[in-house]
Amino acid sequence: MPVLDQYLADCKFILVSNREPYEHVRGVEGIEVRQPPGGLVSALDPLMQRIHGTWVAWGSGSADAETADELGRVQVPPGDGSYTLRRVWLNDEDVEGYYHGFANRALWPLCHLLIHHFEFRTEFWERYRAVNLRFAHAAADEAERCTGRAMVWIQDYHFALVAEALRAMRPSLFIHQFWHIPFPPPDIFRLLPVGTHVALLRGLMGNDLMEFQTERHAMNFLECVEQFVDGATVDRDRRRLTYQGHTTYVDAFPISIDVARFTEMANSARALELVETLRSRYARDDRQLGVAVDRVDYTKGIPERLRAIEYLWTTAPELRERVTFLFVCTPSRSNVPAYAALEQEVGALVTAINEQFGTPDWTPIVLVNSNVDADLLAAVYRAADLCLVSSLQDGMNLVAKEFIAAQVEEKGVLVLSRFAGAAEEMDDATLVNPFNLDGFAAAIRSALAMLPDERRRRMRRLRAQLTRSTIFDWLESILAGATAIIDAQAGPRPAPRKSEETDGHPPEAGP
Ligand code: UDP
Repeated sequence: MPVLDQYLADCKFILVSNREPYEHVRGVEGIEVRQPPGGLVSALDPLMQRIHGTWVAWGSGSADAETADELGRVQVPPGDGSYTLRRVWLNDEDVEGYYHGFANRALWPLCHLLIHHFEFRTEFWERYRAVNLRFAHAAADEAERCTGRAMVWIQDYHFALVAEALRAMRPSLFIHQFWHIPFPPPDIFRLLPVGTHVALLRGLMGNDLMEFQTERHAMNFLECVEQFVDGATVDRDRRRLTYQGHTTYVDAFPISIDVARFTEMANSARALELVETLRSRYARDDRQLGVAVDRVDYTKGIPERLRAIEYLWTTAPELRERVTFLFVCTPSRSNVPAYAALEQEVGALVTAINEQFGTPDWTPIVLVNSNVDADLLAAVYRAADLCLVSSLQDGMNLVAKEFIAAQVEEKGVLVLSRFAGAAEEMDDATLVNPFNLDGFAAAIRSALAMLPDERRRRMRRLRAQLTRSTIFDWLESILAGATAIIDAQAGPRPAPRKSEETDGHPPEAGP
């Protein structure tokens, strides 16, 4: 990454996220180190190792405190120590209020437009504010340790108030933030109590650059600022806003996956063995295998998907026994009542469908309700003739991209909700509206009937497009966008000599 390396060579890079890249836990054999699964950590960890940055995150492991110094600092990766992890300590009340409470019970449903799940409690909000301030102090302290310039990159909706607080402490820092989930339009955002919604917007306006998954989310943010923040000037065309003399640029940077890694996992000997097992068990002769992979979350449209399948088999009995669905439904946030209720609902729906349509040698829906590792998922994706993604709202949806990366034989069809951010980049998927029961069922039906040539044509185009936009391209474009703004903030460069002159204007700011 030449742009990045050049800039970051003399800049301290500070990353702020809720989850830490390395967790120390006490096991039976002593202290073990765990790296949480997930694409973001595996993409950012090599970057941090290369540029020797500092990662500020919640110290959630049972042995985290005893492996860090009195400030919560520890060198990682273990045995290499090329960058610093600065752990921030949270007690049970903090986690309950800031994380489960405000982030997951208020912001999460609100941003996904699912307002019947939205719950606001003042105590959650107070905790969220206090924890955000603590993270801002930790990042400010890390920035203070470096002599040169520093850049802070904040991750996600857990930290809407960090940028403003940090800017007040260290005005010269370059601060930017990636918002991984959707951003709602003003009519939804104003369901937050007066004061809270303005505080959140002002918090985010502390950034020099706000990064969203899609144009739509970026525009929603600008509209919210325009409507709710007195004194802010919004320039939609140039995607920027100015408030109290400070400019925030806003843009879309769709996140992606490590495409080569997924393709490699799908081609491994272990994957091939599992593909063989899955196909001989569920897709013998001309039967098809449909798959779906989600955390059990009400944003994923799992009951909607099950009802569409039930409708399909009810209205098209000839399709019974022609397709088996393998649903990986990984429990998540089970201590939040709405999630526990959803787990029950999904289990009950699957049981009812299997009882209604199953035969002695056919189980219509096979439910896996535990976490499945990425290498096994790659095999599941490769084995599939069909992948169903039915999000009611989704920032991006990485499962859709993983399925494409693992479809090395180009025989699978992606049935994708038009309300997932991924749909904006994927014209060759079969797009569906998961709220439209019979329309969804009809889309599954036509996907099942799609001929091999058509499947190959579409999958080939999807794969070509994905290969051009991996998680590393995402990272590079964000950091290139950030450095372009830094350059512009530094003011026009000395006038070029006549021979170097271009159009005679200083560069326009903006990513
Ligand atoms: N995932 C996993 N094991 C599972 C279920 C899901 O590793 O059992 C991963 C999946 O491969 C994907 C991520 O969890 O990388 C889900 O990301 P997505 O953007 O689809 O949804 P999110 O859960 O972030 O809302």
